[in-house]
Amino acid sequence: MLEFVRKSSNIYKDKIKSGTFSFYCSNCCSFQKANSSDDWSLRNQVICEKCGLGGRFRHLYEIIEKIKPSELNPNVALFEDVTLFTQILKRKYINLKTSEYFDGYKSGDLVQYPPIKDYFITNQDIQNTSYESDSIDLIIHGDVYEHIPSIEEALVEAKRILKPDGYMIFTMPFYDFIDETVVRVEVKNNKLNFLMPKHYHGNPLSEKGALVFTEPGREFLNLSEKVGFNVKLSLGYDPLKGYFPDCNESDQRHCWNLVFVLSLSNQQQNNNQINSSKLMDMNLLTKNYEEIKKINQDLKNIADKYKLSNEQIIESKSWKLILFYRKIIEKIRFKQKIKSFLKKIKIKSR
Ligand SMILES: [Zn+2]
Repeated sequence: MLEFVRKSSNIYKDKIKSGTFSFYCSNCCSFQKANSSDDWSLRNQVICEKCGLGGRFRHLYEIIEKIKPSELNPNVALFEDVTLFTQILKRKYINLKTSEYFDGYKSGDLVQYPPIKDYFITNQDIQNTSYESDSIDLIIHGDVYEHIPSIEEALVEAKRILKPDGYMIFTMPFYDFIDETVVRVEVKNNKLNFLMPKHYHGNPLSEKGALVFTEPGREFLNLSEKVGFNVKLSLGYDPLKGYFPDCNESDQRHCWNLVFVLSLSNQQQNNNQINSSKLMDMNLLTKNYEEIKKINQDLKNIADKYKLSNEQIIESKSWKLILFYRKIIEKIRFKQKIKSFLKKIKIKSR
C-alpha cells in the first residue's frame, strides 16, 4: 500500500513544485493554482494561490462546513489565533474564541503578542482550559495534539467543555500503521524527560518550532472511545481537491491527510449528521485504500481514453472534464450494480 501511495502522490509532486498544479479549493469554491514553499509536505504545502490555505486546512474547512452545530450562532473554541485560518473562521463565526498556548501562563490569561502593538492573545492549555463546562458547541484545532504531554487529559477536558450535542473537529498527524502511540517526550516531576531525539514542527509563534511530544497511533481511537467519544474521520486523498498524504521517500513513514470528527457517543441526533457526511469508521480506512486506488485508476482511464498525459490531466482545463467523466463512471458503475442485482433476482426466481 505504501508503495502505491508514494507512486500516486509522486505523479503530482513535480507539478506542484513547479507551480502549475491546479485543484478545486473548498474555501474559494473555485479552481485555483497551487503555490508551494521549499520546505513542503504534500499534506500541508499544496497551498491555494488565492486564499493561502494548505491542503490540510482546506480539508478541515470542508468538514467544518459539512458538520453544522445545532446553535445558529455556535460558541466555537479554536485553539489558534495568529493564523490565516483564524481570520477565515472569524468571518464565519460571531462567537469565535481564539487562543494560543504560552508557557508559564494560566489558561484565560491575556498575553501581549509583541509583533503587534496592544494586541493581546488569550492563553489556553488545551488540557486544562478556562472555559466553563457544557459551554462550547464546536471545538476546532489543527495539529495541536502531538505537541502536548497528555492527549488523554485533552480529551477529558474537551468532553467537559463541550455541550452534549457538540463536536470536536481537528487534524493531527496520525500513524495508522502503528498500534501504540510513540512517546518522544514525557513529563516527570514537572521536567521534560526526552525518550527520543528532540523533534519540532513549524510554529507561527516561535522560530524554534513546537516540540513534538507524541506520534499518535491507533491507540488514540480506543482512548477517545474510552473517554466517551464517537470517532469518525474523513480521509483526504483527492488530487482534484489538492489533498495528499505526506509520504517521505527517505523513511518508511506516511501520514494521511485526515480530519477527525468526535461527538459525545450518547448523542444519536448528531451521530446521524455525521453518518450522512460520508465520514467513516477507522476500521473502514483499509477498505478505503481500495477507493483511493479506484480514484487514480479513473484518472488514468480518462487520460488513456483522451490520450492525455499525466501532466495534461492535471491541467486546469482538464479538471472539469475529469469531474464530468467521473460522474459518468459512477453512473456506469451504478448501472452495472443494478444489472448484476437483477440477474441475481432472475436466477433466484427460476
Ligand atoms: Zn482557496
